[in-house]
Amino acid sequence: MGFFGDESWYDEEIRRQSDREYKEKSLRKSVISFSEVMEEKLAENDSKGGWDTCTVDFLLLKLQEEYAEVIEAVRSGSTIKDVSRECADLANICMMLSEQYKKLKGAE
Ligand SMILES: [Mg+2]
Repeated sequence: MGFFGDESWYDEEIRRQSDREYKEKSLRKSVISFSEVMEEKLAENDSKGGWDTCTVDFLLLKLQEEYAEVIEAVRSGSTIKDVSRECADLANICMMLSEQYKKLKGAE
C-alpha cells in the first residue's frame, strides 16, 4: 500500500495505456477497432466454452452461416453496429478455422 492508499488501479491504468500505445503504433486504427468488436463477441460467448474441440468441417459450415448473417444484415439495412458485430462473428470463425487448421496440419 503506497502513501496515497491502494495504487494498484494506477499501475493497471499505466499498463492499459501502454498496451493501447503499443497497439496504436503497430496496428492500423481499423484493425484495432474491429478486433475489439471481435473480442467483445468472443467474450459474450465465453460461456459456450472454447473452440478447441471444433473440427475444421464444423467451422466451414459455421462460416457459411455467419456469411449469410452478414449478407442479411447488410441487405436489410441494419445499423452500423449490428453489421460490425455480424462481420466480427464471421471474422471470429475465420480466426478459429485458421487456428484449428494449423493444429490439424501440425499434427500430421
Ligand atoms: Mg452472427
